[in-house]
Amino acid sequence: MPDTLLSAANLDAGVALTAAITTELVAEIRERHDLWPTATAAVGRLTTGAALFAAGLKGNERISLQIAGDGPLGQLAADAWLLDPQTIAARGYARNPRVELPVDARGKFNVSGAIGAGSLQVTRSSDVGQPYVGVVPIHSGEIAEDLALYLAQSEQIPSIVALGVLANPSGVVASGGILARALPGADERAIAALETRAAAMPPVTQLIAQGADVAGLLRELAGDVELRSHHAMTVRFACRCSREKVEAVLLGLGADELLQLTRERDRTEATCEYCKTHYVFTAGELRELAERL
Ligand SMILES: [Zn+2]
Repeated sequence: MPDTLLSAANLDAGVALTAAITTELVAEIRERHDLWPTATAAVGRLTTGAALFAAGLKGNERISLQIAGDGPLGQLAADAWLLDPQTIAARGYARNPRVELPVDARGKFNVSGAIGAGSLQVTRSSDVGQPYVGVVPIHSGEIAEDLALYLAQSEQIPSIVALGVLANPSGVVASGGILARALPGADERAIAALETRAAAMPPVTQLIAQGADVAGLLRELAGDVELRSHHAMTVRFACRCSREKVEAVLLGLGADELLQLTRERDRTEATCEYCKTHYVFTAGELRELAERL
């Protein structure tokens, strides 16, 4: 079944909710990167967060989340954009995919230990104009709380963020998340009611593993808050890399540097960090690029 995302709102109460199930997306990222379970949980949560943030994007807008931590995972990155008005594309990686830490007493992944201390950067960009960049220090390292802290500090939006990835050495069992945002002029009682329900709610992965769909996830958090204007989307893995983009990077080296490369080696290779696609350029192809300059 394809991954889905559902947004809904109650404009009287001033709350907007989005839920996503990202099991297939995170399974694909895990497979492409050979992520170990703790790394799967970290990259899966961040990429799910990017997909949830992308629900409000338009046209060529893009959201990028980057975590620079001093833990064993190294840098973590995820981004999401629209493939079409009904489809969100997302991708993510960890600098060090083979990270596995012991689970805690409740059986939860030690994602904060794998991330360490550092910062979270959120970039909103499009093909035109300057990107909007916000940076906050890593607060808990559990990612959901860090994204909520970012929304509060950088965008002045009170929010509730829940993210979960259930993974084992043989695969991804369930992955998903919920984002609730207060709209300007929100009813404080509605926000407080959502916070109470969020605190008492089972983990999203448990709900998904028990068969909940995105509408079920939204109902679980919304409770008595009636939701309207539902908008459903599909979520899937995609990458933005291409041979043309790698060529552009090589051209940026300049003709002398390219010709130097052709003397040093028969083949020049580049691997996309996000999708692991391998691009190979022969010495002859590099010479052709140098001639273009
Ligand atoms: Zn790629």
